[in-house]
Order: sequence, then C-alpha cells, then structure tokens
Amino acid sequence: MLTKTGDTICAVSTAPGTGAVAIIRISGPAALEVIGDIFTKSGQTEKINANRLSALPSHTVHHGTIGEPGKILDDVLVTLFRAPHSYTGEEVIEISVHGSLYIQQQVIHLLMNKGIRLAQPGEFTLRAFMNGKFDLSQAEAVADLIAAGSSTSHDMAINQLRGGVSKIIAGLRKKLIDFTSLIELELDFSEEHVEFASRPDLVSLLNEMDEELTRLIHSFAIGNAIKQGIQVAITGKPNVGKSTLLNTILNEERAIVSEIPGTTRDAIEDTIVLGGYRFRFIDTAGLHDTDDVIETLGIERTRDKIREASIILYIFDASSESWQDVAEAIEEFSDWVSVDNKKLILIGNKTDMLSELPHGFKDFVEHETIFVSAKRKENIDLIAESLLRTVKSENITDATLVSSTRHLQALQQAHTSVQTIRKGLADSLSPDLLTIDIRNALYYLGEITGEITTDEILGNIFSRFCIGK
Ligand code: GDP
Repeated sequence: MLTKTGDTICAVSTAPGTGAVAIIRISGPAALEVIGDIFTKSGQTEKINANRLSALPSHTVHHGTIGEPGKILDDVLVTLFRAPHSYTGEEVIEISVHGSLYIQQQVIHLLMNKGIRLAQPGEFTLRAFMNGKFDLSQAEAVADLIAAGSSTSHDMAINQLRGGVSKIIAGLRKKLIDFTSLIELELDFSEEHVEFASRPDLVSLLNEMDEELTRLIHSFAIGNAIKQGIQVAITGKPNVGKSTLLNTILNEERAIVSEIPGTTRDAIEDTIVLGGYRFRFIDTAGLHDTDDVIETLGIERTRDKIREASIILYIFDASSESWQDVAEAIEEFSDWVSVDNKKLILIGNKTDMLSELPHGFKDFVEHETIFVSAKRKENIDLIAESLLRTVKSENITDATLVSSTRHLQALQQAHTSVQTIRKGLADSLSPDLLTIDIRNALYYLGEITGEITTDEILGNIFSRFCIGK
C-alpha cells in the first residue's frame, strides 16, 4: 500500500453518508492543474487556470462553481494549501461541497477522469509522515484523536500528537547515538586501546534509560485502559442482583452518554463515560461451585474476564450473606488483586430488605464496601464516585502515557537491549561487540518514532486509518 509520491490523490474526508457539507481533499502535484480545469471562481465566466490559481496565496478560500463545460455540479468553496504549508506537505486543495452523496460521487468521478487516483486509507497522513511533517508516533496519534471518545483518551492523543512520547525517545536516542560515534571511533584506534567514550557516563545514561523506559512500559496499563475503556468486571453469586445493578448504573448515566450525537444504544450498552474516563462494564456469569460442564465453562470465562479487568465489583446480597460468606468468596481472586494491582470493591446489594445496615463489616473485610439497593436505585452514585477515585489515584494527570501495543513492544525490546549493554560494560566487552548492542537499542527506539520503518510497520499502521485521513 505504500505511497507512490508523485501522483495525486483524492478522497472524501468527511464521514461517509449525507451531511450538510462534505469535504473532498486532493493532494499532490497535479492538484492545482486539475482544479483549474473544473472550477469557475465567482464573478468570472471562465475556468480559473492553474497559473492564476498558483498566483493565489496559500490558506485562502474561494467561492465558485464546479463542473464540466455546460454542466454545473455544485456551488462550492475551494481552500488552497500551498506546498509545503499543508497537512501532507504537498499541494493540497479541499473542496467543500453540499453534502449529498450524488454530488460527492460526481466530484470524485470528475477528479478521477482527470487522472487523480483515489487515496488509500491513511494515505494523506502517510504522506505527511514521509514529508517529515511529524514522526510515526504522532501520525498514530492522529488516528487516536479521531477515535477518542472521552476527555482523558482525547488528552492522551493530543499529548502524543504534540510529541509527548517522541520527545522522550528522541532525547534518549540522541544521547545514545553520541556515545556510539565515540565508541566507533575507538574501533579506528583499536591498536592503541584508547577510550573516547567515558564508561561511567555511559553507565549513567543507561541508568537514565532504564528508569525512563521502565516508567513508560508501566504506563501502558493505564494508558491502554484509558484508550480502550477501563474494564470493570461485575461478579458475585447468582441472584444477588448483578444484572439489576448493571442496568441501574448504565441507566443512571446513559442520560449523559446518549446526548452525544451519533451514538447508538447498542454501541454504548456496557460503556459509560464518568468524569472524563470511559468505563467498560463486563457482566460475568458469577462464581460458584458447580458440576455442570457448561456452567463450568462459563465460570472459566468469568475468571478470564476478572483477570483482564482493572476493577472488580463483587456484588453480594447484604440481606442474606454474612461477612464470612463474602470473605470466603473473594479469597479466590484476592491474589490476582494484589499481584496485578487491581482494585476490588465490594457492593452489598438489597439493603431495602434490611431494617439497618450491617455493623462492623469493614472490621472484617479489608476492601472498600458500599451498600446499595439496585432495585430502589439507592446509593448508586457512591459506586460511580468510587470508580473515579480509583482511576484518579493512579496520578496520571501530567505524565506521558504509552497506549499503543506497538510502542510497548518496541520499548520492551529497547529495555532488554539496555540491560544487555549494561552487562556488556560490566564484563568489559570489546567496543565492536558493545556497538552491536547499542545499535539494537537504537533500532527499537527508532521504530517508535519512525526513524526505522519497514513497509510492514507502515502498512499495519496506516491501513487502520479511514480513507480521507
Ligand atoms: P443476578 O443473577 O446476580 O444477575 O441477579 P438479578 O439482577 O437477576 O436479580 C435477582 C433477583 O434479585 C431479581 O428478582 C431482582 O429483582 C432482585 N433484586 C435485585 N436487586 C435488588 C435489590 O436491591 N433489592 C431487592 N429487594 N431485590 C433485588
């Protein structure tokens, strides 16, 4: 799918379908010439030719009609972005047309008849990357920004677009490259056994890299949760009110969610945005002992879902279960909670059936416990507050977070290379072997920002974009 620069591409950049307005984007060297053939500027009787178009300043908008001789297709606005001051770095023209599907298709046909090719998914952004408008992690942030459905995932994408991860990686890479040059110089003087690169300085750089890479690798857990939605598993014995509670939580919050235009009930069925965070609720089959084969499979799946979740809500029936019952039931996943740093919140449901709340519950069970009545919708807001407190305690406000598995893998490989270089230094490895390990670390860091790319990496990233971006 890789770009053939030199040709000119076009696509509808607005959402598919009918809208008030649609934007058709053209990028490439033939853009001005083709527009010159089909656009008549207001107040003029003839097509505006490429020469006159190219005399017009960049970032200007022009009103007129589009079509072929004898057939006006639409009244349009044409925006000029002259190379290199455009999104792609090439000559770019955006035509704003009335958003009927017919007009969109006809304009695209017109452009294709003039030799312009339909763009591949993400090809405009790929060209921007190829022309040095931004690095690879910033290009990926464009896709994240378009997909962001909550304020935190949006903040994270903006941070990456502004170069959050890139700056850190580029900084580390630059320092390491400086060292490689010095060590490679030593190779030229290998007879003399001189050391141009200070080994203690290299050790302290490796320590700095170790610390920074470890932090970024750890940030993936929360970064990914924010991007995908923070997974909340709802579990407990049968009939304690899990489904009722989930419906109550979703319905209480749905009023907010459904205000977002374009979201359908189906798509948000188990997802809510609270305080800028997207939470993804997973109703599980519940955990209990059984001999039934099918039920056993369900319970296995429940365990998997609980393991994947960041937060577990354990629901129990406060009108019939004692603290011993609860303590015994949660013992099974207490280990996962402490090992994987999950949060377990206990919810005592059906308080409407009690004359008073159980006393001293907290003295016996160390986890946060909230008493609610799902049926009467009492204290449901306490659950929402607790979920938000949990994610906010991660203290993520200013930190740069990694949210892409591609970045995570490259970071892990770079981190392993750093450990190898360290070991090499400790073993007084010869400079030629040391440079191999350093080059590996540079390679993996370069993969993140795109200094090192392969067609496969680029293909994977850009094929996930929409057409027109
Ligand atoms: P699940 O099997 O855990 O999903 O439980 P359900 O949500 O299907 O509820 C089981 C039964 O408990 C149903 O009859 C519900 O109406 C009832 N129930 C759920 N929540 C409450 C509550 O807060 N108070 C009372 N009294 N009954 C409830």
